[in-house]
Amino acid sequence: MTALAAARLGYRSIIYSPEADSIAAQVAAGHVEGAYDDEAALARFAAQVDVITYEFENVPEWTVAECKRRKPVRPGTRPIHFAQHRLREKAFFRQAGIGTADYHPICSEADLAAATSLPGILKTCTEGYDGKGQARVSTRDGLKAAWEKLGRRECILEALVDFQCEISAIVARGLDGTTRCFPIGLNDHRDGILRTTTVPSGLPETVLARAERLGIQLARSLDLAGLVALEMFVTRDGRVLANEMAPRPHNSGHWTIDACATSQFEQLVRAICGLPLGAVDVLAPSRMENLIGAEANDWPRFVADPTARLHLYGKAKARPGRKMGHVTYVGNWDVLPPNA
Ligand code: AMP
Repeated sequence: MTALAAARLGYRSIIYSPEADSIAAQVAAGHVEGAYDDEAALARFAAQVDVITYEFENVPEWTVAECKRRKPVRPGTRPIHFAQHRLREKAFFRQAGIGTADYHPICSEADLAAATSLPGILKTCTEGYDGKGQARVSTRDGLKAAWEKLGRRECILEALVDFQCEISAIVARGLDGTTRCFPIGLNDHRDGILRTTTVPSGLPETVLARAERLGIQLARSLDLAGLVALEMFVTRDGRVLANEMAPRPHNSGHWTIDACATSQFEQLVRAICGLPLGAVDVLAPSRMENLIGAEANDWPRFVADPTARLHLYGKAKARPGRKMGHVTYVGNWDVLPPNA
């Protein structure tokens, strides 16, 4: 989607990926296949481009640093240093004045005994996404068992937030330090996976302003050129707490392709290429629904629906839990299907 947005602005994208069948390469000008530690392939890639970005925060820090030696990488290593590790990320939020749920490191038997954030969610510090590497725990025995099950890895125990809803702020920051936040999306997750994003969210202005302020605070604290998404909880008493960040286009911003003056992908391209940031006006109310696993097989229904805009990612296999595409319903609230 970034490559498509770049092409619209006249840029040619070259994709670097460890997979031979990179789906981004299907719509890009070129592809370099190489492992994340393949110095020669990275050098070949960097020689072909003017600026580098990433759309996956688990690219090893070494790989990003290696690219940075050769060409500008926007955003750089700093955002992934924090985004790749939940404990570092939470500490960074707090340091930046962004509130989070209470949390404890769980790295040893002593940590298990000292933990007070119960009931809570135990999460591995690295490599967890879409609800993977997580367990809900309510007792100390349950916590111990869950930690054993996660392989006694470095974990974080987060207090369970009694939230009213989940939202996200996606903020772009240009090379000149200008920031712009997309309208806040209302996110519905099931089994740890994002199912829908609705804009406008219908939340009070005070909550939206708070969320936007936190998103901008984050982009500035990261000294970022590019895009960052901040996922947040709105508590029942109206507080806004950060859950996690992603320094790249985010699934909860996919609605912007069809219903915003500038898409998040175009905004990323603008930010990293030193162009002025685009307008973020909402063109129409919209609801984005992810197509997960076999749900994508229903594409004939979506493609026949005049209120639906279908996006399929070109992934070969529809494995359970895999995001295969999304549909954005655009129009009046009357034509939007109920939030399933
Ligand atoms: P994560 O992978 O951290 O984004 O978690 C996936 C989803 O699990 C979130 O979007 C929430 O729906 C839920 N979740 C994660 N952490 C918490 C928490 N501390 N309290 C309540 N729900 C949570």
